[in-house]
Amino acid sequence: MVLFGPPGSGKGTQSKLLVERLGIPQISTGDMLREHIQNGDGIGRTVEARMKAGLLVPDALVNELVEARLAQPDAERGFILDGYPRTIAQGGVLLELLDRNHAEAVVIHLVVDYNVVIARITGRRQCPKCGTLYNLHSRPPKVAGICDLDGEPLVIREDDREQVIRERMDEYRRQTSPLIDFFRESGRRLYEIDASRATPLAVFDQICGLLDCEPVISHDGHAPQP
Ligand code: ADP
Repeated sequence: MVLFGPPGSGKGTQSKLLVERLGIPQISTGDMLREHIQNGDGIGRTVEARMKAGLLVPDALVNELVEARLAQPDAERGFILDGYPRTIAQGGVLLELLDRNHAEAVVIHLVVDYNVVIARITGRRQCPKCGTLYNLHSRPPKVAGICDLDGEPLVIREDDREQVIRERMDEYRRQTSPLIDFFRESGRRLYEIDASRATPLAVFDQICGLLDCEPVISHDGHAPQP
């Protein structure tokens, strides 16, 4: 499944809900790249400046990361792509990979208003330790500035600052939004969901309705009995 939409459309939140429901992994290229930066490795050093500026990182690099990740055994039964593909070149690589593995794709396009996105992202806070996302407007922590789960002080992601958000939105408009026609023309299942006003759970219900969600793997890690 490809979760598609501009920054702040709720791809990360929906991915996490879908992971629980479907028992398949979330593959977030943004999270993978941030991990490399945190580790201070070669990939991290290559991408850091571009990510901080809100610009996309090179296709070849993310394509390689995704290809290696999809080869892991936990992705065998399916996966949720969050933040990939983001350019036509990445889309081509993904479709080739899926065809080679006789895998089907379902693309969910989360459609949101520009102003809603700006308000959402500027209110976003994250726990640097466990990754839990909060929002000052829609999902504040119980104690201001502190993670409910582990008491860690919350942080603003470096690229969630206002001038960088505009750059990310520009990148989306220029490089990523043309993928909608690309998916449509390639004959993949493409669904649009209005994610501007609905709550995260209402959006999730709509996605489940489209997919007729059944857990792929139950919580004990085994496939459910037919
Ligand atoms: P958001 O969807 O909220 O913008 P992400 O965490 O998905 O946030 O991405 C953060 C940044 O990581 C992007 O602005 C870009 O620099 C980089 N990035 C993530 N995924 C890709 C990708 N598929 N191709 C190129 N750059 C990417």
